[in-house]
Amino acid sequence: MPDKLLLATNNRGKARELKELLRELPMELVLPGELGITAEVEEVGGSLEENARLKATVLAKESRLLALADDSGLEVDALGGEPGPLSARYAGEDASDKDRVEYLLAKLKGVPRENRTARFRCVIAIATPEGKVELCFGECQGLITFGPRGEKGFGYDPLFYFPGLDKTMAELPLEIKNKVSHRGAAAREAVEFLRRKYKL
Ligand code: IMP
Repeated sequence: MPDKLLLATNNRGKARELKELLRELPMELVLPGELGITAEVEEVGGSLEENARLKATVLAKESRLLALADDSGLEVDALGGEPGPLSARYAGEDASDKDRVEYLLAKLKGVPRENRTARFRCVIAIATPEGKVELCFGECQGLITFGPRGEKGFGYDPLFYFPGLDKTMAELPLEIKNKVSHRGAAAREAVEFLRRKYKL
């Protein structure tokens, strides 16, 4: 059984959530920076699956560790599924979370509540240094609000509203977000897989 699992991400929001979600695994969770790996893997794949696979395999090879990568994105129905795999770069390469939030709101100007349906999708890839890959999937449904609400989380969280909870993702404490989020669902599948594979 590997004693370390590399979380192949430089996104602090994702890393924080993944650490909590994978806490029960008897493995030390390490980040690329802690191993001196600073290069970003460019997301050249056209889909979340391809990008997750690419990030996990490159980092597993480079570190010689089991590596877990998350690629995730927001699909807005009124925008034909945009931004999708381009979620991180939607408002330009150097845009901040705030810029992305404003950009998405501007794109949805005039769209009524009933047409603001959206989902977050997450694909987690787990790769061995030898190049074997397992994919895990998660999604969650919601609505895009008319303005940001909440201070927690990251990315598009202040705009992603769960009608059943009457809260945006940015209003939910981490433990609750992890219960209802796309990443939470994919990470639970990943934990199941690792438990089975390594008899944990
Ligand atoms: P990537 O997976 O690194 O390509 O980036 C995904 C992008 O989608 C992030 O930079 C966020 O903008 C957005 N995103 C993914 N997951 C979440 C989430 O849980 N909350 C809010 N935004 C997210």
